[in-house]
Amino acid sequence: MSGTMPKACVMGHPVAHSRSPKLHTFWLRTLGIPGAYELADVTEQDFPTFIRDLRARGYVGGNITVPHKEAAFRAVSRRDDAANAIGAVNTVWYEDGHLVGGNTDAHGFLSHIDATIPDWNGAAGRAVVLGAGGAARAITYGLRQRGLAVAVVNRTVARAQSLAADFGASAHGWTELAPLLGAADLLVNATLLGMAGKPALDIDLALLKPEAIVYDIVYVPLETALLRAARGRGHRVVDGLGMLLHQAVPAFARWFGVTPRVTPELRAHIEADIPKAV
Ligand code: NAP
Repeated sequence: MSGTMPKACVMGHPVAHSRSPKLHTFWLRTLGIPGAYELADVTEQDFPTFIRDLRARGYVGGNITVPHKEAAFRAVSRRDDAANAIGAVNTVWYEDGHLVGGNTDAHGFLSHIDATIPDWNGAAGRAVVLGAGGAARAITYGLRQRGLAVAVVNRTVARAQSLAADFGASAHGWTELAPLLGAADLLVNATLLGMAGKPALDIDLALLKPEAIVYDIVYVPLETALLRAARGRGHRVVDGLGMLLHQAVPAFARWFGVTPRVTPELRAHIEADIPKAV
């Protein structure tokens, strides 16, 4: 390995489960780029020093995952519009010697639905987003950027209200879901529900219009019960793994100078170690 070879890393704690090394290493290998992507398990206590010294450690940038996204937001010199709006940084890189932070989750969410259902924008005027955590913030930001009306539905209504106020959406508890579903063109699950090891997402899809699109950002298992049921009812569906793959594209381009593509080969490579169903 050459000392000048560009390398990036994913910083988190714990981080061993991250699929980012497999994903970025696939692109480095198939594009013939001499570079590396590593796991960096960094505690909350050590994170401020680690990110301050990122370049001295030999990194051109990296991804930030739980629990460091807000700390990274504070640590960078400047941020892109998405990171500023969302309040969290998931990607860092250097510009003119300064560490810059971005958030690629909204890009990943939108790029994947654009690729899966190219004509969706015309159809989708009203979205219902289930959840008000970090992913729901990015998704609501992205959907509002595209001009959709967004209803945020969350167990903790105060969290939905805070998110909705930031992005010009409406906020609701689960008891208000039924009429919202009836009016929705796009339903997004951005909660932990339906994920392997978590409770099921129990909603009545019969309330949806037949043309409504159902997007589940949970990707373990690959086909969630929500997606399976929606597909069975004839809805167009979008899965979570594609969002994960697409959010990595702008990050790779920042670090290694080449914009990679999300291909069936990449997808098959990453799918290989994710359970199809639970
Ligand atoms: P988070 O910040 O912890 O938010 C979790 C959300 O799930 C909150 O809205 C929470 O509601 C809700 N929730 C958790 N348990 C619940 C329950 N028993 N009943 C009702 N609601 C419940 O997590 P996140 O980072 O936003 O991630 C959310 C999901 O998205 C995860 O499954 C994650 O794997 C997935 N994700 C996928 C991608 C991708 O690229 N495909 C990217 C990011 C995240 P409260 O506010 O009431 O607690």
